[in-house]
Amino acid sequence: MTITFHGAARTVTGSKHLLTTDGGKKILLDCGLYQGRGKDTYPLNEHFNFNPEEIDAMILSHAHIDHSGNIPNLVKQGFKGKIYCTPATRQLCELMLIDTAHVQQNDLKYLNMRRSKKGELPVLPIYNEEDVKRSLHHFQELPLDENFHLNDEVDFHFTEVGHILGSGCVNLTVKTKQGERKIFFSGDIGRYHDRIMNPPAPFPQADYILCESTYGNRLHPLPEESEKVLLQIVLQTCVAKKGKLIIPAFSLGRTQEVVYALNNLKNRGELPQLNVYVDSPLSVSATEIMRQNLKSLNDEIQNLIRTDSDPFGFPGLTYIRDAEESKKLNELDQPCIIISASGMAEAGRIKHHIKNSISNHKNTILLVGYCTPDSLGGRLMAGQKEVRIFGDTYEVKAEVHIMNEYSAHGDYNEMLQFLSCQDKSLVKQIFLVHGEYAVQQDWKKTLIANGFKNVEIPELLSEWAID
Ligand SMILES: [Zn+2]
Repeated sequence: MTITFHGAARTVTGSKHLLTTDGGKKILLDCGLYQGRGKDTYPLNEHFNFNPEEIDAMILSHAHIDHSGNIPNLVKQGFKGKIYCTPATRQLCELMLIDTAHVQQNDLKYLNMRRSKKGELPVLPIYNEEDVKRSLHHFQELPLDENFHLNDEVDFHFTEVGHILGSGCVNLTVKTKQGERKIFFSGDIGRYHDRIMNPPAPFPQADYILCESTYGNRLHPLPEESEKVLLQIVLQTCVAKKGKLIIPAFSLGRTQEVVYALNNLKNRGELPQLNVYVDSPLSVSATEIMRQNLKSLNDEIQNLIRTDSDPFGFPGLTYIRDAEESKKLNELDQPCIIISASGMAEAGRIKHHIKNSISNHKNTILLVGYCTPDSLGGRLMAGQKEVRIFGDTYEVKAEVHIMNEYSAHGDYNEMLQFLSCQDKSLVKQIFLVHGEYAVQQDWKKTLIANGFKNVEIPELLSEWAID
């Protein structure tokens, strides 16, 4: 049996790992898009370094686009098998993938206008809405903790990982020439004190582990403190300076975490009177799906909904789908909070809000999630004094704050806690994926210092034998 790393290898996005059994069956774990790579992004996503027609089955850890976003392209290029995921992941993918098709179309409009001026041929989207709809027929739901007999060689089940709604780790049992082998793929690892999600669950002993590394060298502040920190930023921006607080946030997960924190502040009477807008059709729909799945969320939410039936809604909060209504926000000159997507500020309405507010010292841009270094969010995080948005240069006069409290990824202590269910002497090898290379090197040292052996950081397209 072999495993080949086709994405999220020494980088964060583009999760794709291909397992080939001794009997020649090919199983793809995740099929994510690369994101935030500037002009390199498109060719990286367009071509696969394997033949999609030869893949027998796909198993999807969760609905984030860097894990699921290239599925329509996989199907378009000839994949005929099933895509296994939890019921909530399927529900979310339907939403996220159609949105991604639209985002591509919009992004290409600008790019192609520039290309046509230079006499260059237009770039076509990698997939369209029809491709997404076709790919959705391949999805097959499998709830957490239920075994699935895939074929004579492979069984698998998902276990709770607490990252976003529907997320699961993949626990595979594979018959090899040497005997039965357990392979574990973490997907993205959540947190033990998340405000919304259940904590990650222990998983059965594995021989081989594919483990994420996003925050392999970081410790996060405790999520419990997040509401206090957020309130201070709101007071400073919207009350003291009478400015706007602009929050780029992933539509799925981070947006609801921020809204939930504001909801709690409102319930406690601490939030000042001001308008809050969630300005993103995708975020609005994702919040709807969260509301339909409240029972899958943690005990705190179960307690809250006895007295507050909607943890994601409060007086003063408006959800905006309509583009015209969104444009009206540009003209608002009173203090407010605008939460919008995308989280890395690479696409979507948030770019307009940042463009409109970035050169005024009264305003604050609050970054609450991971941003790749090249993305607009990443450049703001790095403290750049000038940034380019839609081809123009803007001076950064607004305050830029970073809050890591909302991270949906565990820090290295939480990831160690997650792995502590394993007998280290029985783990034959750990492959680190989904992380910047420098971070992965630190994470590797930490794992070795904590008793794990044979920790590898596979290169893109490297193939490893699983004995
Ligand atoms: Zn994720």
